[in-house]
Amino acid sequence: MNEARALEKAYLRLNREMSGRIYRNVSMAKQVTVRTGGPVAILAVANTISDLRLLLQTADRYRIPYFVLGKGSNLLVSDKGYKGIAIELGSDFKKISLDRHCIQAGAATSLSTLAQVAWKNSLNNLTFSVGIPGTLGGALVMNAGAHDGCMSNIVSTVTIYTHNCELQILNKTELGFGYRTSSIPSYGIIVEAMLKLEPGNQNRIRFLMERYFRKRKETQPFEHPSAGCVFKNTSGISAGKLIDGVGCKGWRIGDAEVSTKHANFIVNLGGATATDIYKLIKEVQLKVYREKGVLLEPEINILGEFKDE
Ligand SMILES: Cc1cc2nc3c(=O)[nH]c(=O)nc-3n(C[C@H](O)[C@H](O)[C@H](O)COP(=O)(O)OP(=O)(O)OC[C@H]3O[C@@H](n4cnc5c(N)ncnc54)[C@H](O)[C@@H]3O)c2cc1C
Repeated sequence: MNEARALEKAYLRLNREMSGRIYRNVSMAKQVTVRTGGPVAILAVANTISDLRLLLQTADRYRIPYFVLGKGSNLLVSDKGYKGIAIELGSDFKKISLDRHCIQAGAATSLSTLAQVAWKNSLNNLTFSVGIPGTLGGALVMNAGAHDGCMSNIVSTVTIYTHNCELQILNKTELGFGYRTSSIPSYGIIVEAMLKLEPGNQNRIRFLMERYFRKRKETQPFEHPSAGCVFKNTSGISAGKLIDGVGCKGWRIGDAEVSTKHANFIVNLGGATATDIYKLIKEVQLKVYREKGVLLEPEINILGEFKDE
């Protein structure tokens, strides 16, 4: 069966049987924070585990690729789009419960909601996440972090819906956490996680949240869309300093610009294409490599087809 027919058949089946909503040919520019990118063939909102089972079985039956879309704050999707299924987690994956110092939350819960819950309950350790615009699922996959904190420090267990349609609870030691990375994608889709926090002083927690948020506003280009830091920091020196040091700040391709405020951000000045951003990433990477001998590794997840020149 050809690709177009497989996608049409999959769409019809999902539309008939899923409880969550299904959309066809959705522009990713509206779904990701960098506000550019082509269409995803199918966008499916999975409200329940049954929806997830149907999605994975359908993808398998018609040999269609899929990925989970959190808040899209770490994604660059090709202008040609993605010929597969973007799975968004809906209602059943947004639930939160609290048991003393532990928060159990669905993977679609936003980090900002979690930070608020922690603050209201005088729980420490989530202050670092203030201003990271992701979901719990995306943050765990990326082992998101800031200000010396990161997800792997606070997660206790993660419940995964495996690629083989089984629910599995994994301990943090099994999740291959490293700097802005984990082995979670090889297991499947995170549906919920347990975070283990420590009791703290509510005023101090508020103070830190406000301080971290102010610092972000001072140092990061909030005025334009972006996907956050483009490259991972290296062990000796931050990627931003390396990029600034070789004079890339302000470099532009089309409407994609290396931020003049923070060199590790590429901002969309309005009409940037995903190709503009991709080419700029490659040019910056090459310049740093030629002048400093360091090959910067992208932190951004790049999806779909891009041409290397
Ligand atoms: C302005 C700005 C500031 C940022 N600051 C920081 C920062 O300080 N520190 C930092 O670490 N990051 C930062 N980021 C990057 C980004 O916000 C984080 O990486 C975030 O955790 C990504 O979450 P998300 O829900 O948007 O994931 P997405 O971008 O939607 O997805 C990221 C990856 O996770 C996968 N994924 C998402 N959910 C699931 C799931 N439930 N199960 C399995 N796979 C899943 C996706 O398929 C994809 O591979 C920033 C981004 C922006 C735009």
